[in-house]
Amino acid sequence: NVRVRMAPSPTGSPHVGLVRTALFNWAFARHHGGTFVFRIEDTDKERSTDESLDSIIDLFQWLGLDWDEGPGVGGPHAPYKQSERSDLYADALAKLRASRFAYDCFCTNDEVDARRKVSGSKVLGYDGFCRELTDDQTAAFVADGRLPVVRFRMPDGSITWHDLVRGDVTFETQFVPDYALCRTNGDPLYTLVNPVDDALMDITHVLRGEDLLSSTPRQIALHEALIELGIAKQVPEFGHLPYVMGEGNKKLSKRDPEAHALAYRDNGYIPEGLLNYLALLGWAIAADRDVFSLEEMVAAFDIKDVNANPARFDIKKCDAINTDHMKLLAEDEVGRRIRPFLVRDGIVSDPATPAQEALLTELLPLIAPRLRKLTEASGLVASFFVSDEEFAIDEAARAKVLTEGGLDVVKAAYDALAGVSTWVTADIEAALNGKLVEELGLKPRVAFGPVRVATSGAQISPPLFESLEILGRERTLARLQSALG
Ligand code: GLU
Repeated sequence: NVRVRMAPSPTGSPHVGLVRTALFNWAFARHHGGTFVFRIEDTDKERSTDESLDSIIDLFQWLGLDWDEGPGVGGPHAPYKQSERSDLYADALAKLRASRFAYDCFCTNDEVDARRKVSGSKVLGYDGFCRELTDDQTAAFVADGRLPVVRFRMPDGSITWHDLVRGDVTFETQFVPDYALCRTNGDPLYTLVNPVDDALMDITHVLRGEDLLSSTPRQIALHEALIELGIAKQVPEFGHLPYVMGEGNKKLSKRDPEAHALAYRDNGYIPEGLLNYLALLGWAIAADRDVFSLEEMVAAFDIKDVNANPARFDIKKCDAINTDHMKLLAEDEVGRRIRPFLVRDGIVSDPATPAQEALLTELLPLIAPRLRKLTEASGLVASFFVSDEEFAIDEAARAKVLTEGGLDVVKAAYDALAGVSTWVTADIEAALNGKLVEELGLKPRVAFGPVRVATSGAQISPPLFESLEILGRERTLARLQSALG
């Protein structure tokens, strides 16, 4: 029974790397009919915030990556917030401390550094000084008023695991120092709680970023101790997902604007597009295929196909994949999804008036096939929703298109359209074509560009003839007239 988890620390705005990791865990769980657990690693009290946790929950709800156990859902291993699990960690810590697997350590960092200078050792971290303290030495430290941390005793030799992504990985434990499991006040550290929770929550596979690779030998050694102490059943299998590289071949960092996962929602990407793109950071469904659905990913996902090489984050490719998924959405679905953006941008009210609804229904078929992102809808429809007084022509478009020649075209278009008796697309098209293309011999781009700018206010608009039908005769003529000045 596969059990995997995502274990974000709620510090700051969620990163796309978290989404990629969560997606691979989710797809792995769904592929194997397993369980996807959402655990909140908020042991760092100073840095964890409710705001960050809320944004992580918002993010995953938006993405539609559902969890089987965790916040809002509960589950057999509740609570799923580490700050509410102190008793469990205290219990594990007490058992470790009472065993040979851990020991009290009274050293200060300065003392460890001073000893390293003397010995000339190149191994960073703790030197094992307190490993074999006598009772007298311990008593002396205690009498001195020192408080110990509990340190895990790394076993001798080496630790090897078969990484699901990278194959066999070996660490010599002489380079993996004994590490603290709690603070001197007894507060448990991440080094303890992460493996203890994986054990208590019966996690079978840990798929996570490569940045955590160096903590894995420590965690495996701890898992083995927890098995002996009756706390863990098994050492989970580990798979380390490749780094995601940003500009200049540096790891995508919080400073990169592309790193902020919720910005994609606010910038009009759809979950299908973003998730598909993030799946490509380390995985491929087939050599010659980039676009797929989540269902297809679940069916095909095999952790062994994940590539260990760093993946390059390419926002252009992300945009292209998003566009492909936009085209796969049904028209009414596009209508539902652009609505919050139209409200945000002040195009329609919330709820929309009947007149706004009617106009949107007419416009949707024109714009739905053209959107690359949901945010583009507002710009395409704005000119239909404004009164003639509010209507304004984009200055750059005016300067470029409504030149002297352009205004001649607008005048001719006005004359042609004034004579149209039934205001429907076919007749509008026939009138404009007849006058501008056939009679005046203009190329379509030269003919229709000025009409578009004069009536929509921009160089990019929905298809012209249909747009004019929707805009109506009166408003079309008024706008052409006003462009003429
Ligand atoms: N809380 C850790 C992080 O945010 C996750 C560690 C893990 O997946 O084991 O990086």
